[in-house]
Amino acid sequence: MGGFFGTIEVRSCTNDLFYGTDYNSHLGTKRAGLVTLDKEKGFCRSIHSLESSYFRTKFEDELDDFEGNAGLGVISDTDPQPIIVNSHLGRYAVVTVAHILNTREIADELLAKHMHLSEMSANNINPTELVALLINMGETFVEGINNVFRKVRGSCSMLVLTEDGIICARDFLGRTPIVLGRKESAWAATSESTAFPNLGYETVRDLGPGEIVRIKANGMEVLQEAATRCQVCSFLWVYYGFPTSDYEGINTEDVRERNGKIMGAKDDTEADLVCGIPDSGVGTALGYAEGHGIPYKRAVLKYTPTWPRSFTPSNQSRRSLVAKMKLIPNRAILKGNRVVFCDDSIVRGTQLRDNVSTFFEYGAKEVHARISCPPLVYECPFIGFTSSKSVMELITRRIIQDFEGDSEKDLDKYATTGSPQYERMVKEIARRLGLSSLKFNTIEDLVESIGLPKSKLCTHCFDGSSYMPQDADKQSAE
Ligand code: SF4
Repeated sequence: MGGFFGTIEVRSCTNDLFYGTDYNSHLGTKRAGLVTLDKEKGFCRSIHSLESSYFRTKFEDELDDFEGNAGLGVISDTDPQPIIVNSHLGRYAVVTVAHILNTREIADELLAKHMHLSEMSANNINPTELVALLINMGETFVEGINNVFRKVRGSCSMLVLTEDGIICARDFLGRTPIVLGRKESAWAATSESTAFPNLGYETVRDLGPGEIVRIKANGMEVLQEAATRCQVCSFLWVYYGFPTSDYEGINTEDVRERNGKIMGAKDDTEADLVCGIPDSGVGTALGYAEGHGIPYKRAVLKYTPTWPRSFTPSNQSRRSLVAKMKLIPNRAILKGNRVVFCDDSIVRGTQLRDNVSTFFEYGAKEVHARISCPPLVYECPFIGFTSSKSVMELITRRIIQDFEGDSEKDLDKYATTGSPQYERMVKEIARRLGLSSLKFNTIEDLVESIGLPKSKLCTHCFDGSSYMPQDADKQSAE
């Protein structure tokens, strides 16, 4: 997905920028970038790969180079950012949290208008540069950003560092968040509100879908009101979010605990203890323990001194190795016990299968999995939550292919809790993973745990129900 942080202050912004961006590190794996703007010296920018090291390690030696009272930082799963632009709108820098499905189509349209792409490398289009070109086509920043909203299939939130403040624009349907914060003589915008407490910012509010605001050191102005339709990603609370983060004012850990409590209360499986697969399964397990009336125990722990992040490399074989290395089972707790473990979701299932066999090797009598969300039956076209190249990486689709000879057949039935197809699929997932039993949460209980109306949430990967910005655009034009 990726995350960003922008701050504008009366004094130097460097420290807040550095730490604020770092608190978004769990949202991305590939690249990070920082840019500051100093009125006299102009922009200072640096971009590094994160594939072999962490954000702070990569940037801390360069901090003295960054000058100015305003800056942007980004942790990206894809392209090198920030992009710096000199245009008829003035000098600016832009960072995005975006997943653009139609980059080629947009690029062809721009090239046909005699525009050029300078950031291309290995034939890949830089999506953030594409966003900058679309912004440049507007007479104003607001017009240009709306041009982005109209053209992009997928999602795109952005921060734009200008000579007159930082412009913050949340995705047209609010799939990815932007939270505003302020303290004395500074304002900030971030993907994760977790960035605020230690830097002394108070959360002001979330931007609404399609809302555009400008922040300065001494205040904020709305440049475009929020749209009414919202499709915020429900997976933020299940998986992406750091436990201390709030989206739409709703805390991630609270949702996970509520979710687990509901699942625990409804579950009639007899067990001796429940544990959570770190990090995102822990809150669910704590709630499950309360709801089911069994103790929460740390039967598996993440080795935090050198594996501080929950995300893993994009290469599958390295990811499997890293996943194995960073989780350590505790034989003293597993041995002789009927264990329930809570995890956020099942994508391919490979990691989970390894965990299950380790639990049995370490003496567990039974291993039951309880998953915080429904089965992932559909791909995510909006934020690219897996690095999947193919929908067939989803264990659900592989099973549907095996059952039906067609991985696209009857998806709605497989996505409906309690249907014969759903029951058969879940049983088969449990068998392939070697589990004593497997239960997924229902959409209804997940939505109840989040506490927003379903119509305001994206639940597409579970039920295929959400819509594209262009569809909403058409509807609002009708
Ligand atoms: S499809 Fe799933 S992961 Fe993607 S935005 Fe919707 S809820 Fe989030």
